[in-house]
Amino acid sequence: MKSPFESDEILAFRQSLVKFIEDEIVPHADEWDEAGDFPWELHEKAGALGVFGIGIDEEYGGLGFENAYMRAAMGEEFGRLAPGGVWASLASRNIMTAPVQQLGSEEIKRGPLSEIVSGRKGGALAITEPGGGSDVANMTTRAKRDGDDWIIDGAKTFITGGMKASYYVVGARTGGQGLEGISLFFVEEDFPGFSRTSVGKKMGWWASDTATLHFDSCRVPAKNMLGEEGQGFLAIMHNFNFERLGLAASMVGMAKRCLEDSIRYAQERETFGRPLIQHQAIRHKIADMSSKVDAMESYLNQACWLSEDGQRVAGDIAKLKLFCSKEHEWIANEAMQIFGGAAYLRGNMVERIYRETKVMSIGGGSQEIMRDLAVRQMGL
Ligand SMILES: Cc1cc2nc3c(=O)[nH]c(=O)nc-3n(C[C@H](O)[C@H](O)[C@H](O)COP(=O)(O)OP(=O)(O)OC[C@H]3O[C@@H](n4cnc5c(N)ncnc54)[C@H](O)[C@@H]3O)c2cc1C
Repeated sequence: MKSPFESDEILAFRQSLVKFIEDEIVPHADEWDEAGDFPWELHEKAGALGVFGIGIDEEYGGLGFENAYMRAAMGEEFGRLAPGGVWASLASRNIMTAPVQQLGSEEIKRGPLSEIVSGRKGGALAITEPGGGSDVANMTTRAKRDGDDWIIDGAKTFITGGMKASYYVVGARTGGQGLEGISLFFVEEDFPGFSRTSVGKKMGWWASDTATLHFDSCRVPAKNMLGEEGQGFLAIMHNFNFERLGLAASMVGMAKRCLEDSIRYAQERETFGRPLIQHQAIRHKIADMSSKVDAMESYLNQACWLSEDGQRVAGDIAKLKLFCSKEHEWIANEAMQIFGGAAYLRGNMVERIYRETKVMSIGGGSQEIMRDLAVRQMGL
């Protein structure tokens, strides 16, 4: 049955994504994941398909409109079909382009932004610091004015796509303590005083490069400040809505895949003389998993609807991300259990999803921080 939430345009976009992922990514998924890398060509192919263009004006190579359902369809299909590391690497752009589109100079938008949107160049969002990621308002990376430049000192870590990106949206303190002292900068990889090192091996998202960025008196032209001085925190918070919605959608996709694969396996695998699916304990697991997938998907659609309706959605999206991360973790665990030992072997999608589940309750704002934000947005 056609989804009442999905227009013909979004359905066509979803179908083109599924074809792209099945043709270009799935055949290489295990090889790329084990290698911890994939060809740059894929970034450009994804760019040509419009993967980085939602919310970006056409004159900079974007689709010319924002659409939450479209972001959700994209997150869902990549989550369902692709290794998390490949999607995280590609999507490192999608979590940094909104402030550039909204606050960047014409020069940045015509040059770097259009290169990022086309997939020719990489972009990354740099907020988290070695001293902490949850307490964004108290970040310590500092920028001081020096003539026509700002001089940035400090470090950022866990930056997805950070080793290969050419451009970064970086939060730094230009004023006093607290959220009013934070500004956003557009930093290029060849600015003097900028360097990066890899964080090393990760539990999941193997195909993605993750960096620590070092700013040692890094000189940034004043025209590369995004928006007004001291307005960075608001821009970061607004931007988080896109990232968190995308993460929630990926979890819906991963949870659906766990359910689909579990049903297929339970129909094929026999124990005690009959297919697993005929054992009541397994049937109950499938019923519970299915109801949770439906709830996650419905909640995602509600958040998209509120977002499209122009409502303040930070609290709703925080609750959505929290809910999806808890339910998806449970579903991935049940899928592992239904597969038994077979799920413990590499090359099984359920094994990969299980490994890539934990980051969903940490990255882009942890469960604890989502709870805090949700309650604050309730006015409490
Ligand atoms: C694979 C990966 C990719 C990432 N990509 C990016 C990226 O591209 N860009 C970027 O900027 N960041 C990125 N991050 C960082 C991510 O957003 C942070 O890890 C996250 O915000 C948590 O920050 P932290 O790890 O410093 O934990 P901390 O802030 O040190 O917190 C540690 C734990 O304590 C909990 N905690 C903290 N404060 C409280 C409190 N007041 N009450 C209760 N509990 C609390 C947290 O929830 C967490 O569980 C990435 C992280 C990972 C793992």
